[in-house]
Amino acid sequence: MKKVGDLPVKQYLENLKAKIFTIKNIPWKSPRVIGGSLALLLLMGSGIVYLNSTTSAVFIVVNEEKIGLVADQDQAGEMINQILTEKGEPFGIAAKTHDSITYSSVRIKNAEFRSLSKSDLAEDISYYVDGVMLKVNKEPIFVLANAEDGEKLLKDFQEYYTKPSDKNQVSSVSFEDEVETQPVEAPLEQIVSYEQALEKLKQGNLQKVEYTVQEKDSWWLIARKNDMKTKEVLASNPGTNEDTILKPGEKIMLDKISPYITVVSEGVRTDTETIPFDVVTETDTSLPSGETKVKQAGSDGQKEVQYAYVQKNGQVVTQTVKDEKVLKEAVSQIIEKGPQRVTVASSRGSGSIVSGLSWPLRGPITSYFGYRHSEYHTGIDIDGDQGDPYTSAGAGKVVSAGYSGNYGYTITIDHGNGVMTRYAHSTKLLVSSGQSVSKGQTIGLVGSTGRSTGSHLHFEVIVNGDTVNPLNSLR
Ligand SMILES: [Zn+2]
Repeated sequence: MKKVGDLPVKQYLENLKAKIFTIKNIPWKSPRVIGGSLALLLLMGSGIVYLNSTTSAVFIVVNEEKIGLVADQDQAGEMINQILTEKGEPFGIAAKTHDSITYSSVRIKNAEFRSLSKSDLAEDISYYVDGVMLKVNKEPIFVLANAEDGEKLLKDFQEYYTKPSDKNQVSSVSFEDEVETQPVEAPLEQIVSYEQALEKLKQGNLQKVEYTVQEKDSWWLIARKNDMKTKEVLASNPGTNEDTILKPGEKIMLDKISPYITVVSEGVRTDTETIPFDVVTETDTSLPSGETKVKQAGSDGQKEVQYAYVQKNGQVVTQTVKDEKVLKEAVSQIIEKGPQRVTVASSRGSGSIVSGLSWPLRGPITSYFGYRHSEYHTGIDIDGDQGDPYTSAGAGKVVSAGYSGNYGYTITIDHGNGVMTRYAHSTKLLVSSGQSVSKGQTIGLVGSTGRSTGSHLHFEVIVNGDTVNPLNSLR
């Protein structure tokens, strides 16, 4: 309970009313206040003695309710202005109120006077600001404190995804959605700050959707059906992991995140890319049989590629190569090999033995073939999500399918003519040893088993027992 002095407010007010000899509601800054009070005082005929022991004061009346006393109207007006300024300060504007605030002049005994505090008065007023409502496709999203915040928000959200720079010349930016800001009166509690609003736009709109498990569903299949990642589906259902059994008819949750606004941008981007080096094997009769020696260490080249692109919220939708410039040629790795074993040159020109293999998985290459620091990488790593299906690079026969140390769950396929391909780190194998497969057939699911950091497909091309650079054989 609010207190004035040591009396509860209500009791204090009651006491006061009993002693006051004049109360009159007057509008704010009325010139009639002083005259009116004096006239009434004279009519009452109270003596000088009484006037000396009493003081003039005003009641602040909010929506017909007397809140408390202050010395005079100027002080009251000052207090209210301060409160409105302070309330609006976090939003960089002054707050407003629709409350009716009037003053009522009184005389009370000096000893009875207790001034109302600013904080007590502030609690009895309700506030609003003239904000702007952000609407996307006619749907209200949130209210900002002012139009400048709204403009800055939309501009910064576009820049968050377009990221213009010397290497990224953005030629056009637009919203795919109908975006508008509309003036609106809003209570203080409804206002979101520019920072909160930008964060909310970046995070997108989270909707919890129920999903009923179908026959033959698995976590990754549900993810693919719903355009989500397996880890996102699992995260939507706390306590689950990939081994959690799904029963048909069972209901699970999907935390679907959709953007509030889609930013479409077009431009030209310049990327610096690595040209992976080739590995060439030569026979050296001076070496013992089966031994190898690096005659020339390979090194990667570099090229600058210009792409004309269209992006939606930072994701490339389409892109075409506009220009390509080699900055540094790659140097082939030359390996000398002792005699008595079939040797295979695997440079680009001699790809007749291994050609026409298809990509087992579409995705960025995260590690190339060849020497990487002190280790020799026997294949390429293609980035993929746990559970992504990958396919056979060519027709052939499965010669092994199972768990194999560092490779984890692995498939090896013999394509004939001394050519084999290997697929490592799978989460699941969908073929078995001895089985014939066709080119493009789904044979396993991407995982991270064996010696692996993060889910990816490790893919090898093996010619006459030696691994060669898969990039020379893929198309
Ligand atoms: Zn690898």
